[in-house]
Amino acid sequence: MGDHMSTDENLRDALHHLDTAIHRLTGVRTTIHDGRTLTAPCLYVQMQQAVHESKRGVSPGAFNSSAPAWLETIDWITTVDTTVRAWATPEQGHILSLLAGLAHRPWRPQDTGQARQITNTIHGWVRAAETILAGGPRMEVREPCPECGERYVYRRDGLGETIRADVLHIDAEGCHCAVCGTHWPPDQLAFLARLIGAPDVTEQSGA
Ligand SMILES: [Zn+2]
Repeated sequence: MGDHMSTDENLRDALHHLDTAIHRLTGVRTTIHDGRTLTAPCLYVQMQQAVHESKRGVSPGAFNSSAPAWLETIDWITTVDTTVRAWATPEQGHILSLLAGLAHRPWRPQDTGQARQITNTIHGWVRAAETILAGGPRMEVREPCPECGERYVYRRDGLGETIRADVLHIDAEGCHCAVCGTHWPPDQLAFLARLIGAPDVTEQSGA
């Protein structure tokens, strides 16, 4: 691509895609349900609400009362906030304003590659948020990780409060430790269950 486009066209094209990506993350979401149009807050706000709702004990469908999804959500918010603030420097303000401002800052033709990278990163965030909010089957393992020995992982949520969650969680991809990052694929779950003395781990994961 780009051979047939001037550098200006290339930049315009990149900024158009950047704008689209930003809109996927920060635009109001609409769905059609039973012929009616329903609106929901943007993905970024939905992720924040998901964290706060699960803290209040409201059982949001997104989480299936699973703490690991909650952790992923907090990690997602932290990553987005930190990265967007770095991109927007020296601008400051609310993340949504900073994101909205990105596409409109004075981009130069030599920044085209950077604009495309930012676009890809944002699309990745959107996919991750949609996956988390859709909530696949998951379960917690109430045992320490056999690799690192940790039982709990601690995170700060958006309000600065500390949240404790189990380190191990199981989903369709297998089992994952939130502390050391060790991953056991589905075909090793029986082995892992014996390792941690939780013989029912595989039966429950299919429920
Ligand atoms: Zn571990």
